[in-house]
Amino acid sequence: MSENKKAMVTGASQGIGKAIALRLAKEGYDIINIDYGSPEIAQEMQKEVQSLGVSCDYYKCDVSSFQDTESLVKECIEKHEGIDVLVNNAGITSDTLFSVMSEDAFDKVIAVNLKGTFNMMRHVGRKMLRKRSGCIVNISSVVGVMGNAGQANYSASKAGVLGLTKSGAREFAPRGIRVNAVAPGFIETAMTDKLKEEYKQAFIEKIPLKRIGTPEDVANAVAFLVSDDASYMTGQTLMIDGGMVM
Ligand code: NAP
Repeated sequence: MSENKKAMVTGASQGIGKAIALRLAKEGYDIINIDYGSPEIAQEMQKEVQSLGVSCDYYKCDVSSFQDTESLVKECIEKHEGIDVLVNNAGITSDTLFSVMSEDAFDKVIAVNLKGTFNMMRHVGRKMLRKRSGCIVNISSVVGVMGNAGQANYSASKAGVLGLTKSGAREFAPRGIRVNAVAPGFIETAMTDKLKEEYKQAFIEKIPLKRIGTPEDVANAVAFLVSDDASYMTGQTLMIDGGMVM
């Protein structure tokens, strides 16, 4: 059993989650990736993390399932003897205007982004409480703070993530467990690749720093929040958005 600290990152096969996993691997964490997408992409990411000299386990699991996440967390805790850091990053979008949004589009986004974060905080948080140590970072979004036309489901899920973060921070603080959030703005990943070019340009115009963010910009904030440099911070949200929300 490696002496390294363990970081569980959901949705770490690609995009922001992968950048977070690589950054935490550079800090010496063994990585546990919980992702529901392509196993091939997960295996590529696994090799990249392992090349940094730490271990990387991959579990295919849908974070929106209470039961699946419960048994997965049990298995991981037994294997790894605890989890030091949990990053709830897995997320999806299903954008459309209010008046045409289907019930399914609303339910799916809430199930993955909000309930998925609850599931993981619930199962991993229990173990951290028993151990009296640990650190949780939830990935929200600027639109959870300011709303966005065409993203009622997504904005509601990400606002809910901030509620989970603050409630978890208050509940877990007496046992020394910190819970914070990062709210990225417009970050270049597969999630934003599908947006139309003119929409992207219009978005960049609204960003004071006039550029799209990188997954590494978000990973830097996560690395700070889990470090001892942030040991007096809990219940906070770091906006990584080039100044969009201030
Ligand atoms: P991404 O490139 O789509 O990556 C998300 C990862 O999560 C994918 O590997 C995806 O697998 C996985 N995933 C999706 N549903 C899952 C589930 N039910 N269970 C487990 N894993 C699941 O997205 P990203 O842009 O890196 O976003 C990461 C996080 O940042 C999300 O929470 C997102 O809402 C948030 N965020 C992103 C931006 C941005 O501009 N990109 C801005 C603000 C916030 P698949 O291969 O199946 O999709």
